[in-house]
Amino acid sequence: MALNYSSKINKIRTFALSLVFIGFGVMYLGILTKKIEWLMAIFFILGLLCIVFSTVVYFWIGMLSTRARQIVCPTCNKPTKILGRVDACMHCKQPFTIDKNLEGKEFDEKYNSKEYRKQMKNQHQTNDSK
Ligand SMILES: [Zn+2]
Repeated sequence: MALNYSSKINKIRTFALSLVFIGFGVMYLGILTKKIEWLMAIFFILGLLCIVFSTVVYFWIGMLSTRARQIVCPTCNKPTKILGRVDACMHCKQPFTIDKNLEGKEFDEKYNSKEYRKQMKNQHQTNDSK
């Protein structure tokens, strides 16, 4: 499957890493504007905030990966982690689901949304009452 979908943990990791670079970039702008003291201060604080935030995000990834299900990818045979009901392999980007109801269906990010889950729940309830 040629889906351009990377695993959530990888996505968050990329996000955290880019935050670090943005933080340093903003701080560098601060150095460039050191003649204007208040502007330099603002850039430094913003840069610092970005870096602190990325640390928080990294910490969050750590928490997430301890909670994620670890499985062996059927496509590349490497261990990978799944977050939510649908996710992709961290190595080969093979999408999969841990929900039997979704098996065989076309991969869609929407299966992770709360709205979709609510919909499914309502469907089940109406089926039960019949
Ligand atoms: Zn894989």
